[in-house]
Parts: sequence; structure tokens; C-alpha cells
Amino acid sequence: MSDILIYKTFGGLPWTPKFVEEIDKALCLGCGRCVKLCVQECLGLESFEDDEGTERHVAKIVNKDQCIGCQSCGKICVRRAYTFKAKSA
Ligand code: SF4
Ligand code: SF4
Repeated sequence: MSDILIYKTFGGLPWTPKFVEEIDKALCLGCGRCVKLCVQECLGLESFEDDEGTERHVAKIVNKDQCIGCQSCGKICVRRAYTFKAKSA
């Protein structure tokens, strides 16, 4: 098994980035908070029509390659829709 990727904080403490893995669409309210918050512009909103024909929105990962593993999107999400994963070194 390979080692987990670990960086350092400003103060030299170990920091294990956990990268965005998945957004549970069944939990997402489409509020867009996570999308606005991500400084790396990894996230977006997509629209869909629900069973009643109403237009709804749901968050999606649009650019995972730019994720720095800060987990801020998961922290702000009141529905706890996010899952994250550390990366092998
Ligand atoms: S913060 Fe949570 S509920 Fe709001 S759009 Fe993002 S994933 Fe969906
Ligand atoms: S973990 Fe950080 S960089 Fe990655 S998608 Fe979430 S807010 Fe953006």
C-alpha cells in the first residue's frame, strides 16, 4: 500500500489534504454556497426538472484537477452532501 500524501501548514505542522470525491445529489439543496466558496473553482451547479416539472439545481464537481483538498465545501454544506478522500503520495 502506498503512503498518503501529506503537506505542511504555514507553521510546519503536517497537513493531509482530503480531495473532493463525491456530492450526494439526493442530499444537495442546490443552494450554491459551496460553489461560491471554492477559491479553486472546482464546483458548479447544474439544473434539472424534478418530478413536478419544477426547475431545480444541484452542485457538481466540474474541475477536480484543481482541488487542493481543503474540505471547505464540505464544511459549509448544511446537508453534509460531500465526501472526501486523501491521495496516495
Ligand atoms: S452547499 Fe451543500 S446543499 Fe448547498 S449546493 Fe453545495 S452541496 Fe448542495
Ligand atoms: S476541497 Fe477545497 S478546493 Fe476542493 S472542491 Fe472543496 S472547496 Fe474547492
